[in-house]
Amino acid sequence: MYVVSCIKQVPDTTQVQIDPVTNTLKREGVPFIINPYDTHALEESLRLKDRFGLRVATISMGPPNAEATLRKSLALGVDEAILLSDRSFGGADTLATSKVLAEAILKLDAQDDVILVICGKQTIDGDTAQVGPGIATRLNYNQLTLVDKIEELDLTKMKIIVRRKLEGRHERVESSLPAVITVVREINKPRYPTVPRRLESEDAEVKVWNNQVLKLEEQTIGLKGSPTMVNKIFSPQRDKGEIIGDGINDPEGTAKLLVDKLAAKELLPF
Ligand SMILES: Cc1cc2nc3c(=O)[nH]c(=O)nc-3n(C[C@H](O)[C@H](O)[C@H](O)COP(=O)(O)OP(=O)(O)OC[C@H]3O[C@@H](n4cnc5c(N)ncnc54)[C@H](O)[C@@H]3O)c2cc1C
Repeated sequence: MYVVSCIKQVPDTTQVQIDPVTNTLKREGVPFIINPYDTHALEESLRLKDRFGLRVATISMGPPNAEATLRKSLALGVDEAILLSDRSFGGADTLATSKVLAEAILKLDAQDDVILVICGKQTIDGDTAQVGPGIATRLNYNQLTLVDKIEELDLTKMKIIVRRKLEGRHERVESSLPAVITVVREINKPRYPTVPRRLESEDAEVKVWNNQVLKLEEQTIGLKGSPTMVNKIFSPQRDKGEIIGDGINDPEGTAKLLVDKLAAKELLPF
């Protein structure tokens, strides 16, 4: 049985800049890392391997240099790493990205049952959080987003119970398998590779599946299969904040000042 972890190579955002002319991310010369949320997805897969002996595969859609990201996953102990790379996959939006990832998961499922797909909550570059649910929809798997704990995995009854981290509360959800879960940082603390594994991973195979392998209709993938148009990318600008009154010593007076200010700007409904 497989657990599949979807990992994306992203630019190290502390150093990313936006090209003011083209409104695109400047990717040249920028160091790449595994999307931070995906390191937690990967760790959770490895923990399931440790506990249940499941086979772990990592998949990543990206350019040839994303191989380095997958090799890091081999150094951590995954059994199989697959790079989905083809010119025809390029320029994909989330719809086309989830299509290619879902097809690769189906191909693995034909080799051995995929019982769980684990994604990060979102990426730190695209930031949409759409790809995990997109994969689940395409595969007709249940989707459990924002998971901060796998409480139970029952391989006999083929069910999973997870805890979801929502705003101000938790939710406990049970689902049948196979399922897609997306995970938040709180779920675990990722491990470091051991030296022997890191050395072994240098010679290990990262499989490459191009479109000759996946055989997808070109109109449904890459730029041609992407209905999204990006008009502009910009960093949000916020006005400088203002501290009103003394909320600690005079909360009522401060609340009144705030209400007066909002009323003066006609921001109150009364
Ligand atoms: C018109 C258009 C063209 C684009 N062209 C390009 C381009 O040429 N090159 C480019 O890099 N981006 C391109 N993008 C951005 C691209 O759409 C997104 O980066 C991609 O679809 C993933 O979305 P996201 O980053 O918001 O992922 P999210 O939905 O935030 O990711 C959630 C989780 O899904 C999984 N995941 C997401 N993407 C991948 C992946 N590729 N491989 C494995 N797992 C993944 C990870 O587990 C991740 O944590 C383009 C976007 C648009 C709209």
